[in-house]
Amino acid sequence: MNSQNSSLRTSPIRVAEIICVGTELLLGDIVNTNAAFISRTLASLGISVYHQSVIGDHPGRLQAALEDAFSGNGRPRADLVILSGGLGPTYDDLTKETVAAFFGKALYCHEPSLEAIREYFSRTGRVMSDNNKKQAMMPEGAFVLENPYGTAPGVAVGDETRTAILLPGPPAELQPMLTERALPLLLPYCESVLVSKNIHLIGIGESDAESKLRDLMLASTNPTLAPYCGNGEVRLRVTAKADRKETAEKMCDELIARVYDSPVGAYIYGVDIPSTEAALLQKLSSLGLTLGTAESCTGGLMGQRLTAVPGASAVFKGGCITYQNEVKINLLGVDPQTIAAVTEVSAEVAEQMAAGARRALGCDVAISATGYAGPGGGTEQNPVGTVYVGIATPRGTSSIRLYYRNKSRDYIREAVATRAFIAAIQAVQDIRKSNP
Ligand code: ATP
Ligand code: MG
Repeated sequence: MNSQNSSLRTSPIRVAEIICVGTELLLGDIVNTNAAFISRTLASLGISVYHQSVIGDHPGRLQAALEDAFSGNGRPRADLVILSGGLGPTYDDLTKETVAAFFGKALYCHEPSLEAIREYFSRTGRVMSDNNKKQAMMPEGAFVLENPYGTAPGVAVGDETRTAILLPGPPAELQPMLTERALPLLLPYCESVLVSKNIHLIGIGESDAESKLRDLMLASTNPTLAPYCGNGEVRLRVTAKADRKETAEKMCDELIARVYDSPVGAYIYGVDIPSTEAALLQKLSSLGLTLGTAESCTGGLMGQRLTAVPGASAVFKGGCITYQNEVKINLLGVDPQTIAAVTEVSAEVAEQMAAGARRALGCDVAISATGYAGPGGGTEQNPVGTVYVGIATPRGTSSIRLYYRNKSRDYIREAVATRAFIAAIQAVQDIRKSNP
């Protein structure tokens, strides 16, 4: 028999495992981003993941990993195993063969897949080798998951209570294959869905937020409310579990409304904000204000991140990369005497840069950054990792001092840009509060 089953399985799916196949992963040549993506996706379906593993291109060890997951010494650990990688045409791609053998299924040539692979090769102008036919071989009774993103189709195979889903390794194929092809098959067997929403706060520390919310956090079991912090921002994650997505979303929204009404409500600057730059642009746009930048140590990174947001042109006027002091002085009007007195890495220069950018660019709000991103530079007073961010608004100019100890140049530049965007959001919020 080589026709497809009409149903995938009979029992519900509660616990899943992830097995990523590839010697490259074990050698550290590539980072296992597929495991993270699969885990996140399963979590959103309310499926628990207790184990993830990485196996080299070795059928014996893959077979053992499947035994551990599905049979686990008489106590099955998982209802579902999602495997990534090893579906390609070469001799070391053995995932499908091993999984088929595990379930005692023979392989047959799935004609529609062979046709799709032929068609893919002719469309991309490449010659199909005999090896590629291997990708059209499917376990008897399996569900074939068509792959419009590459050549190797995915597969769902198993029995009444155990399902293995095999997906191709390249993330650009695995991600849409999981969400578009595998999920519709799994959904009928999921008993609940998880929905998470993030509330973003600024101007309040994590412990302060936590103590102000303690009662609400303790009282909230579904949805749960948990704080996270990092780089000047506190995030509260609200997670609800329900049998339907709409119900879980409504439960989240109700708890979010209570957080708005709580003492931390005044510090909320958004819910599910994709990035701080997007949040800043959105806030400025709603107030009809324009933005400019004056960057020294970030070297244009702020401008790059702002212009990556679609629609930025309505708010972001432009930026100056003023790396040498001469340019800070000539372009932004920074006072050479200030530089002589306190150096260019100082609150004074950061503020003069921001104020100068407002004038030079004709924008309402300007942000600046000047500092030592390392590895060289720094003084005793302002060691490597010290950066000053300036913010100029129609209400005046201010600055903040940041310090990142033992961090790489790239890390510091990204973190400074994020903090500058947050500082600007805060400054603009202050304008709104004092001028409703
Ligand atoms: P192909 O047909 O391209 O050979 P495949 O299903 O056989 O696909 P692999 O050969 O295992 O997949 O991996 C192909 C590429 O996919 C790897 O070189 C790597 O770039 C990426 N990749 C594989 N596994 C992972 C993973 N777990 N996380 C991130 N990237 C991965
Ligand atoms: Mg391969």
